[in-house]
Amino acid sequence: MSIPAVLGVSGIRPKIVDQAEVPIIVDGTEGRVILWPDEETLQRYRRKCEESERQELQLLETSLLAAVSKDGVEVKVMANIDLPEEIGEAQRFGAAGVGLYRSEFLYIEKSPEMPTEEEHLAIYRHLIEASAPHPAIIRTYDLGGRKIAREVMETREANPVLGLRGIRLTLARPDIFRTQVRALIRATVFGELWIMLPMVTIVEEIRQFRAFCEEVMAELEEEEIPFSRDFKLGSMVEVPATAMITDILAREVDFFSIGTNDLIQYSLAVDRNNEHVSDLYRPLHPAILRMLTQVIGNGRAAGLEVSLCGEMGADPELTPVLLGAGLRRVSVSPRQVATIKRRIRELHVEGLDRLVRDCATLSTGEEVREFLSQHLGPAGVVGLGANVD
Ligand code: PEP
Ligand code: MG
Repeated sequence: MSIPAVLGVSGIRPKIVDQAEVPIIVDGTEGRVILWPDEETLQRYRRKCEESERQELQLLETSLLAAVSKDGVEVKVMANIDLPEEIGEAQRFGAAGVGLYRSEFLYIEKSPEMPTEEEHLAIYRHLIEASAPHPAIIRTYDLGGRKIAREVMETREANPVLGLRGIRLTLARPDIFRTQVRALIRATVFGELWIMLPMVTIVEEIRQFRAFCEEVMAELEEEEIPFSRDFKLGSMVEVPATAMITDILAREVDFFSIGTNDLIQYSLAVDRNNEHVSDLYRPLHPAILRMLTQVIGNGRAAGLEVSLCGEMGADPELTPVLLGAGLRRVSVSPRQVATIKRRIRELHVEGLDRLVRDCATLSTGEEVREFLSQHLGPAGVVGLGANVD
């Protein structure tokens, strides 16, 4: 939303409460908060602001171009949307459709009321039409966990992140979630809709959801409400067990989307919101690299589209790693779309697969970082004997 933010700065609150006059610099790029900056720092940051405005103009030029690497590999860079108003930014920065609409934000916005079928439908229609000719990937509610849903949760949970969350909650309360599923199926008449399920861990969840859709479609037929059967159904891969069975899961769905925010949290047993362990939250842990390569490989071998919609996709330094792992579709916040497209356009993809394979055999995330800094130039692999100009 273009609001700079820095999270997990412990001990800062007492320093700033009741001090309305304190000048503060919030540097969301570097992850710094500077209290009482001196004149020199203020000047430096004013120059930085001007520079970032200039860069933004350059990025807007990139947004008109396709995300094609120097050696001709095309990548679809899509947008993650929390609020429907963000679609304008996504279009401005040249997104290839919506890669993740977090529909639970609609619920959170309306709470304590439940959104109506017509409210769901209007938003889905808007996102689908604005995404054309690309698809819009709409995720069913990912409520539960930390996205508390008081209206639908019947009991308190001691460990909600491992509890009734995402698809589990949807299937547990079909009475409540029918409204959303009806709106999704009705939205299929407006263009290309891919429906995505969060927190899938077992194949039965997909089968049950399909049966739920069949029921809803029979109901709509009865009511003579139009819909199309021509939509894709996909699973998020956010849990290590799910990653391990992607060859099996591929028989049940039309696409995967890797949710690295949760996949890293659950794989490394590191709460993604806990500042005390935030240094252990490591996207380059060899286990994560192995999992990514495996999931993307399994999906592609089965002819499925594989996307990645976690924050890992939004870091241009990691773009070569993701391309090397075989990724050809990624979804990031609207403002990062052009940055990632620009990075892709600078790169040669050839040789990156070998680089990632080598990284996955190293012992630690730090070694991986070091290896990458030695073997990654601005245009791709260097010093591994790959054929790169
Ligand atoms: C993820 O887990 O990577 C993801 C995209 O979902 P969320 O951040 O909404 O949990
Ligand atoms: Mg998630």
